[in-house]
Formats: sequence, structure tokens, C-alpha cells
Amino acid sequence: MGNERGFMEIERRDPGYRPVEERVRDYRAVEKQLSRNQLVEQATRCMDCGIPFCCSTGCPLANVIPEFNELVYRERWQDALDMLLLTNPFPEFTGRICPAPCETSCTLGINKEPVAIRQIEVSIAENAFERGLLQAAPPARRYDARIAVVGSGPAGLAAADVLNRHGYNVVVFEKNQYPGGLLRYGIPDFKLEKWIVERRIKLMEDEGITFETGVEIGLDLSSKYLLDRFDAVVLAAGAEKARDLPIPGRDLNGIHFAMDFLMQQNRRISGEGVKVDEISARDKHVVVIGGGDTGSDCVGTSNRQGAASVTQLEILPEPSADRPPETPWPLWPASRRDSSSHKEGCDRRWAVQTESFEGSNGDVRKLKCCEVEWVTPKDGGRPVPQKVKGSDFLLRAELVLLSMGFVGPATNKLVDDLELKLDPRGNIQRDGDHKTSHAGIFVAGDMTHGASLVVRAINDGFQTAQSVMNWLKTRA
Ligand SMILES: Cc1cc2nc3c(=O)[nH]c(=O)nc-3n(C[C@H](O)[C@H](O)[C@H](O)COP(=O)(O)OP(=O)(O)OC[C@H]3O[C@@H](n4cnc5c(N)ncnc54)[C@H](O)[C@@H]3O)c2cc1C
Ligand code: SF4
Repeated sequence: MGNERGFMEIERRDPGYRPVEERVRDYRAVEKQLSRNQLVEQATRCMDCGIPFCCSTGCPLANVIPEFNELVYRERWQDALDMLLLTNPFPEFTGRICPAPCETSCTLGINKEPVAIRQIEVSIAENAFERGLLQAAPPARRYDARIAVVGSGPAGLAAADVLNRHGYNVVVFEKNQYPGGLLRYGIPDFKLEKWIVERRIKLMEDEGITFETGVEIGLDLSSKYLLDRFDAVVLAAGAEKARDLPIPGRDLNGIHFAMDFLMQQNRRISGEGVKVDEISARDKHVVVIGGGDTGSDCVGTSNRQGAASVTQLEILPEPSADRPPETPWPLWPASRRDSSSHKEGCDRRWAVQTESFEGSNGDVRKLKCCEVEWVTPKDGGRPVPQKVKGSDFLLRAELVLLSMGFVGPATNKLVDDLELKLDPRGNIQRDGDHKTSHAGIFVAGDMTHGASLVVRAINDGFQTAQSVMNWLKTRA
């Protein structure tokens, strides 16, 4: 522990965001960063409290947070980096876009503001890149074994990184033009600028990983090809199948899945171009259906494209602003969150159900909605939505973005050809060693546990790589 009185003497400081009127005119990162001196000061707020719930309960990667806080306080940046990389291969991603469950588990957070852990994490990473501490480190020796990784999102990248560092020959197959998965094509630049993803991919290439992009496994390459040429395969193809809203009027023009909209914008910014019909929010009244993070990204993107208005609908009731009693410390609080995008202009409505879309000349014009209340059935069970009588209303909409989550992996011929078993939710089934029902094929990330978080995908890729290596050793 650096400074015993730090948590009593120093208040939490957040870097804040660029002013709204400035940031909505571009797609650059909205969040600022603390200076190095401010970070050192923030690190001294860590109490090294004995049972660090931040790592044991909060961080899915179990980052050793009190230890790297102390190393930052002592300005031992190389040691802090080494400590962080023990558990987290990509701190420059999590330090920017992780919702930081570590902070909601921080002991200081019981009665004060928690330690600014995410900011400290990103600063250790960025400081390392700036000072040249993070450089390509290819393995000293290589095994003969070859591993194919299908999908280059955080789960695939983490698996590839671990396997490569241990000396295995890794080829990552990606159907898109550039690697990165949702880091590149889903999450908007204003949360994660893409040069950060490119910098990491370059480092991984320099360390010996091969990226084969524009290759859809199951379509461009068969399962036979993979099984013949590789000793093991890690599937990390995400959960791309979006939940639909099959209500009257769904076939009207102007109703799109959130990911189609977000992906187009990310492609435009990177200069990749959009080859299909362009979806634009410019001068339109936009309604985003679904109150989660993907919906919030649609809000921010719509405002940047120049929407006339943006409304976000959520069927669940509005959560309380404070930590509710059902999720006490150190659990992740089920409280209301307002993202930087919401603060840029958005009408958020809760406990609202969309009953139909109405249009003219084939284009969507309105949503017919009603309010609902959540009622617990008399015989117990989960609450269900019930329409509030007389609460019908119409909402003007020229662009509707469906953002109600994902229901599982996209149709994949590889999965069909190999007849991989699915779990009851439609995700690829696996055992405790990350193995699918086909020998030598492993699965990681959203493809097996459903849509989640970058930090969980990284952790899962990391763990899956360990299982692959254990399995290869039993065959040697
Ligand atoms: C819009 C949006 C915003 C988000 N924001 C955040 C956030 O701020 N913070 C956070 O923690 N999480 C966020 N998430 C969730 C997070 O991005 C995902 O949980 C995470 O990316 C899952 O990682 P993954 O590697 O399992 O899959 P993905 O990132 O989905 O990567 C899968 C990859 O596999 C490729 N692929 C699929 N099929 C094939 C095939 N047949 N052949 C070759 N390649 C294939 C895909 O093209 C894709 O690149 C967000 C999600 C979305 C949709
Ligand atoms: S990865 Fe997320 S939960 Fe873990 S220390 Fe970083 S910000 Fe916290």
C-alpha cells in the first residue's frame, strides 16, 4: 500500500468527457484521460483492503488490482505493466470500454467513490506503448502444432495470443475485411477508436500470428479443410443473430437491426465503404427499441449523423438511480446507467411495448406503443408485462433500430457440417474443458455463453487456450 491516508485525503477524480456540442460533430473518442500525475495520485486511494473484492468478485479477469495500484503509485511502470499483463492481454481495450465491475466491488465504494481502476488500467497500457515498453515478443521456440481460430473478436484474439506466446502456430480466420470482431465493427469509434485495435493486431502479427481475413469458415473454407490442416480449432465466431420484433408492419422500409446500422458507420469511418443500401439517421426521427448498451451506441451514432430526434424505448421499468437492495455491494448494481451518448440528446422511455409499425408508401412513419406494468403471477415466477389500459400512444419514426439483444451464433455451415451440439438456448455447447461435441474443436466467447462483455470474452479466450494446450499435451 503506497499511502496509508490516501483514501482519506484524496477525492476520486474522473477525466470527464469532451463537451457535447464539440463531440457530436465527430466520431473521435469522447472520454478524456487523466494526466500521469493525477493517476499516480488516484492510485494512492487504494486501501489494499485485505480481501480485494475488486479482483475476486468484480473483475472477470481477476486483475491483481491493489498490486498494480501500488506499482503505479511508486511509478514502477514496467512492473505495473508486467503485473497487468499476467491476467489481461489487452488492457488498452478493457481500460476504455469495460463497464468496470471492479469499481462497483471496490471496498472504498461502500461509503465513498471507488478507486478509478479502469483509468489506471488504461494509463498503464498507454504509458507502455508510449515508452516502447510494449513491443512484439515472439516466442523463443515453436512447437509443430497448428491451431486455427475462427473469429477475431476479443475471445479469438485472446485465445490466439495465449497459444502463440506458448509457441503454437496460430492462424486466425475472419470473415470481415479487418480483424477485431465487435471491437472493430460493433463498438463505435467514439468509445474505441480503431487505431487502437489496429495497433494490437500489428503487434500480434509481429509476434507471429497469421490473420486470414475475408474468409468465412463454412463458406469459403470447409470443416474438412480445417480438420485436415490443423491440430485443434477454436471457434470464437460471436453471437451475431439479433433478436427480431415480428409485429405487424415489420416489413416496412426503415426498420433495421442495430448492428447493420452501427457496422455501416464503423466501415464509413475506416474508409472501408458501404456496399449495401445505406442506412442514415440524417434529419430523421429515430426510435431505438431496446434500452441496453447497443441501443445507447445507436443513440450516439444517430445524433452524430444529424437525426431530427432520438427516442430510446425499453420494455423494463426504469431502474432506480441508486444501488437497489437486491444487488448490494459488492455485486454489480442493477441501477440506471446513463451513457455519454444519452447525455448528447435522447428521450428515454421505460416500461413501453411496441405493438405495431405503421407506414405510408412502404416506409415506416409511426410506432403504435403502449405502457406496461410488470406483474408477478399469483403462483409466483418471473414478473410479466401487462398492458396499462388506455395507455396507447403513437410515436413518430422514420428510422427504427432494433436493439433487443442477440439470440445466438449466426447460421454457420461449419457448425451444421460437424453437427456440433447446441445448448437449449442455441449456443454452441461445450464441456468444462471448453470442448465442443467434436474432438479437437473448442469454443469460446459469445458463441458459447451468449452476448456478453469484452472482458468476459477475453477471459474466456484465455481459459480456452489453456484447455487447448492441455489437450494437445495429452495427445503428444
Ligand atoms: C454495438 C455493441 C457495443 C458493445 N459495447 C460493449 C462495450 O462497450 N463494452 C463491453 O465490454 N462489451 C460491449 N459489447 C459486447 C462485446 O463486444 C462482445 O461481448 C464481445 O465482442 C464478444 O467477443 P467474441 O470474440 O466472442 O465475439 P465477436 O466480437 O462478435 O467476434 C466474432 C468474430 O467472428 C467472426 N465470424 C463469425 N462467423 C465467422 C465465420 N464463419 N468465419 C470467420 N469469421 C467469422 C465475426 O465476423 C467476428 O469478427 C458490445 C456489443 C455490441 C454489439
Ligand atoms: S478489466 Fe474491467 S473489471 Fe477488470 S480491472 Fe479492468 S476495468 Fe476493472
